[in-house]
Amino acid sequence: MAGTVYQSSLDWDPQRPQTTIITCVDGRWYPHFQEFARVHLNAGPRTDFVAVPGGIEPLTLIDLVPKDFNFLRRRLESLVEAHGTRRIVAVAHQDCAWYRARKIGPITIDLRERQIADLRRAASKLRELFTGVTVETYFARLSATEPQKVVFDVV
Ligand SMILES: [Zn+2]
Repeated sequence: MAGTVYQSSLDWDPQRPQTTIITCVDGRWYPHFQEFARVHLNAGPRTDFVAVPGGIEPLTLIDLVPKDFNFLRRRLESLVEAHGTRRIVAVAHQDCAWYRARKIGPITIDLRERQIADLRRAASKLRELFTGVTVETYFARLSATEPQKVVFDVV
């Protein structure tokens, strides 16, 4: 049956965030991404999020899978224009299922290295597409401490 079933307890704030975070969809990392954005990036209490499995990976596929590249590019162009985005923050994460599933080469190959190379490649593409927008890249990983924490490396 159709009809309203819930009202959020939070008041609506129409002001748009100036920061967009492009990241993976893995929900285990979200509270950490949000805290990172709020506390470290000073991006305010909210940011826009663009989430696809593997994060920025489609932006590295301009030659290999141009339709994937264009899917993300078109949506980012529309977002930056409509929302007045000033800052794009790309975050990759350790143990990403998308990267694991698409791994080419020996099992020992370092996915982190590939993800960081992809972040850099995507960042230069983003800077090319959006002059005037600041682009930053980070890799989120688990600490060696107990209990485990999430730490962010700038890359
Ligand atoms: Zn992932």
